[in-house]
Amino acid sequence: MENKLVLYNTLTRKKEEFIPYNPPFVGIYVCGPTVYGDPHLGHARPAVTFDLLFRYLKSMGYKVRYVRNITDVGHLEHDADEGEDKIAKKARLEQLEPMEISHYYTERYHDAMKELGVLSPSIEPHASGHIIEQIAMVEQILEKGYAYISNGSVYFDVEKYNKDYHYGRLSGRNLDDTKDNSRALDGQDDKHNPYDFALWKKASPEHIMRWPSPWSDGFPGWHLECSVMSTKYLGEKFDIHGGGMDLMFPHHECEIAQNTAASGHDAARYWIHNNMITINGKKMGKSLGNFITLEELFNGTHELLEQAYSPMTIRFFVLQAQYRSTLDFSNEALQGAEKGFDRLMKAVEALDKIKTSDKSTVEVAELESRCAEAMNDDLNSPVVISILFDWVRTINQLHDGQQTITADDLATLKQTVHKWVFDILGLKNEKQDGNDNLVSPLVNMLLDIRSQAKSEKNWALSDEIRNKLTDIGIRVKDRKDGYDWEIE
Ligand code: ZN
Repeated sequence: MENKLVLYNTLTRKKEEFIPYNPPFVGIYVCGPTVYGDPHLGHARPAVTFDLLFRYLKSMGYKVRYVRNITDVGHLEHDADEGEDKIAKKARLEQLEPMEISHYYTERYHDAMKELGVLSPSIEPHASGHIIEQIAMVEQILEKGYAYISNGSVYFDVEKYNKDYHYGRLSGRNLDDTKDNSRALDGQDDKHNPYDFALWKKASPEHIMRWPSPWSDGFPGWHLECSVMSTKYLGEKFDIHGGGMDLMFPHHECEIAQNTAASGHDAARYWIHNNMITINGKKMGKSLGNFITLEELFNGTHELLEQAYSPMTIRFFVLQAQYRSTLDFSNEALQGAEKGFDRLMKAVEALDKIKTSDKSTVEVAELESRCAEAMNDDLNSPVVISILFDWVRTINQLHDGQQTITADDLATLKQTVHKWVFDILGLKNEKQDGNDNLVSPLVNMLLDIRSQAKSEKNWALSDEIRNKLTDIGIRVKDRKDGYDWEIE
């Protein structure tokens, strides 16, 4: 059995064994949200994917520093069509301080991530809090000769860089292809070539978000913040850089160029990209009318939705696909995920009700080894889930008495199931939200008292316990050898 973690490295286009620079420490940087709007479905996939990686590396014993940034500085290039930074525009229209807007949406993002069971990163740096460091990197790149100043702005000299290094290594492009596809962007007049990108932009008079620099009052180019904040917190060489596939070009390609220009070498060793989410087979977009916020999903308020879907249904659905595969949202698929997730949670609850025996007819250790093997193969969460479902069947057989298990094996089984379902896949039983550890023991305790009462022929007490449990939504079924219960 292969027991080493293997990850697909976008940079080398192959699966590679994961070897950290400085074990047991692991550094991960992931491009976080741009905070000028509500968190939406597109945010769910990278968040859950890298949360899975973060959780898994921790479970393997690594000490992980996970850095995920907040983009709160406008990036003109990202919104070239409108020609105005999105945060600044909203601030101007609503008479708000730009920070009020980015703070509001950062909080909304945090709330949604918490619902999805996404752990908080170790550090969450804001671009606006790292202007000094960004200016320093621009100076470094200028010093190395890979940038030029033009009319108060600073641009990265792609052609010069491409002569010494290869621009396009990550996305598999050549500069010639890029030349053909470069379209006219705002401020192009200041650039030597259309494919050069801004490291620093001089702010126009109406631009609200601006900072002083040696070149002009302005703001950093979008790609710069990630080059700067990743290396500030993880070092000039770090282990993993992640993000959505849509960021591979130009964002990540430019990041690599900036870091290489500044330091002479790559910053990140493994580049991991999650594939995108489509809705009914189409790319999500505001103009297509299929742009669904996470709040709309959780409440079922978008017109494309037949019902509300709980955060754990969404998480489970995302985990049912390997992160490099496409993932298509439809009501049918989400309803399937909802049913599957419910079955899994019922099996986890049933674990607390299994009677032990003096011999096991099941091989408990194989659950751990098979799950680890699947995860080690480039985080194959759908295979992990299918293995867990093999065990859902076994757990139900143990519960029905068709198979038997010793107390020791049952303890191991519970521990293994909890580890994979809750700690690594990051799922939680929403019916027992917040009280996962208390509900089962409390109900079992009451039902044991009830069994005692029955054996003493105290029918009044026995009925009272049963009726009161029914009142709060717990259905009790009597069996030959005891009882069974479930939350309605
Ligand atoms: Zn980034």
